[in-house]
Amino acid sequence: MIELHKRSITYLPGVGPKKAEILLKEAKISSFEDLLYYFPYKYIDRSRFYTVSEIKENMPYIQLKGRILSFETLGEGRARRLVARFTDGTGALDLVWFKGIAYVKDKYSIGKEYIVFGKPAEFGHTYNIAHPDIDPVEQAGQVAGGLTPYYNTTEKMKKSFLNSRAIQNLQFTLLKLLDWQVPETLPSDVLERIKMVSMTEAMRNIHFPESAEQLKKAQLRLKFDELFFIQLNILQTAAYRKLKLKGLAFPLVGDKFNTFYKEYLPFELTDAQKRVIKEIRRDMGSGRQMNRLLQGDVGSGKTLVGLLSMLLAIDNDYQACMMAPTEILANQHYVTVMNFLGDMDIKVALLTGSTKKRDRAKLLPAIASGEINIVIGTHALIEETVVFSSLGLAIIDEQHRFGVEQRARLWKKNEVVPHVLVMTATPIPRTLAMTLYGDLDVSVIDQLPPGRKPVLTLHRYDNRKKELFEFLRKEIQTGRQVYVVYPLIEGSEKVDYKNLEEGYEVFTEIFSEYKVCMVHGRMKAADKEAEMQKFVSGEAQILMATTVIEVGVNVPNASVMVIESAERFGLSQLHQLRGRVGRGADQSYCVLVSSYKLSNETRKRLEIMVQTNNGFEIAEADLRLRGHGDLEGTRQSGIGIDLKIANLGSDGQILQYARDIANAVLNDDPELKQDAHSLLKERLRILFSRRINWGMIS
Ligand code: ADP
Ligand code: MG
Repeated sequence: MIELHKRSITYLPGVGPKKAEILLKEAKISSFEDLLYYFPYKYIDRSRFYTVSEIKENMPYIQLKGRILSFETLGEGRARRLVARFTDGTGALDLVWFKGIAYVKDKYSIGKEYIVFGKPAEFGHTYNIAHPDIDPVEQAGQVAGGLTPYYNTTEKMKKSFLNSRAIQNLQFTLLKLLDWQVPETLPSDVLERIKMVSMTEAMRNIHFPESAEQLKKAQLRLKFDELFFIQLNILQTAAYRKLKLKGLAFPLVGDKFNTFYKEYLPFELTDAQKRVIKEIRRDMGSGRQMNRLLQGDVGSGKTLVGLLSMLLAIDNDYQACMMAPTEILANQHYVTVMNFLGDMDIKVALLTGSTKKRDRAKLLPAIASGEINIVIGTHALIEETVVFSSLGLAIIDEQHRFGVEQRARLWKKNEVVPHVLVMTATPIPRTLAMTLYGDLDVSVIDQLPPGRKPVLTLHRYDNRKKELFEFLRKEIQTGRQVYVVYPLIEGSEKVDYKNLEEGYEVFTEIFSEYKVCMVHGRMKAADKEAEMQKFVSGEAQILMATTVIEVGVNVPNASVMVIESAERFGLSQLHQLRGRVGRGADQSYCVLVSSYKLSNETRKRLEIMVQTNNGFEIAEADLRLRGHGDLEGTRQSGIGIDLKIANLGSDGQILQYARDIANAVLNDDPELKQDAHSLLKERLRILFSRRINWGMIS
């Protein structure tokens, strides 16, 4: 069989020296294998035409057939755009370009019939499609029917007639030359275990999908493959390193854990929670140091998993601590933990920046003597003066607010490093990238407690306040509570405060028959606490706040989250805020209030919030919208995570699975010495021989 990575692309019929050069320079394609692994970045279902009159809110990519009526250039600077009025006889909409204005104007003509693809967005009284794909109607035969793949191409490629369709033709030529057979990369024992499609079937369907279902299977197999080999490589080298790093062994699942589980747990754990607890137990019992990241969407019940882990530490005569990014959150964790534990014989302390001197003076010796079992707090926990008798487990909630350096300071509190559990509600790419070099193992709670209704998210312009107020009043009348949040922009707290204060005046007047409370960053901790308490107890119906309530606050009776100036928040922040509601059994709402003038990106951001409640999807969208950010950083530092199909933002679960399988293979055959695994060894050599040595990164 041909060794695909060794066969030069110039051997492919239709690729002469000129094209080969462009393919290499512009797309890094030099071998048959490179071409096969040049995957489409999207597919569009072209089996159906829509009419303008059929367009509704929140449609996916659609296909229209019609004519351009006019071109108009509007706006200035970054808002400069070309707007084409487009009609198919049933109605009209705008096609909009922010880039390549001259090119577009030159390429398309008024009056000619075109096929237009894109995602319609509502804009005032009309719809628009930004940066649509346009083909002359004569090409309908070529493009219509089934799922059409789209390949990334550059201007230079297009000039050399290497547009998306030409790439697809090359794929066809290559696969035909190979008799539609692609060498398998995985040995049969792995294939049997994962039950995914063969490499041959995957490659055929990724370039020529037979159906959406076949395409999904192909994507899954190829994503798995990509992540599996990366994991196999890391784990093989990391295993060696881990042998050298000792950890505390927690062999006992004892009295406290069992008593709590049997007698105090107010509800059944979800399967996902049970699985994660098992993973944590296995880690902490192994004698190696646990360094685990717990990802779970807002409201998935991470706190309880944290508490159960702390009980394991206590059962083994160690202390545990839980560190939160804000005082409000630390307080809340404290209350939650105290409530869960009831009258159990466990000493819990709260330590924050506003703990009184006198109380501190009592607490510190009790922590140092081991009398206190669990300490919950903020950054105050990492101060020099806080000394533990035997810290066995450190839990860090909402990881993205704590730097690696701060984590390291917690570790220094013992001779042997404590186990570390980091909990985060937004799977940020950086953490996933970290898993790629083995710093953190990952657990995922991919299930919400039963009976939760997904939060319904609405986007409203701020000139429609009256309806909003009516809606809020109706909710409050049924006994529910409402959050209203204002943005906080760094360095301009005064302005934010003013916004909040103005809002507060409006709300207290309009809702004069109800109690409105307010929380913001400039308040004294005690006042903050008192105001929060009014809302928690149900005395106040409306809580108005800046983002201090962002993380972790839990009031199940609150059913509406209103986010003012929603355009000023980032996606993960919006998602976090939304997570404050939908914690009870009733329908909850999140209302994103924005001004009418929005940039394309902002509009997308709000649209994504309306469309999905899934934190993984949101993280991926965030990554897409903001660009590679953190990932670029790792690239520059030479870690070179060059992924062709898997996405670190959205494929966390496949990554985890690939890691598990790689682990299983290595457990069985640590050095890949078995005959059946020679294929893996060879593939690792091909993939990573030119890369840096992962084992050297720590
Ligand atoms: P998060 O993952 O966002 O930190 P929390 O730990 O605050 O979520 O949990 C959200 C709510 O769900 C809390 O009120 C908690 O008591 C409740 N909860 C957690 N686990 C379960 C479960 N298995 N069944 C029912 N409710 C649960
Ligand atoms: Mg939480």
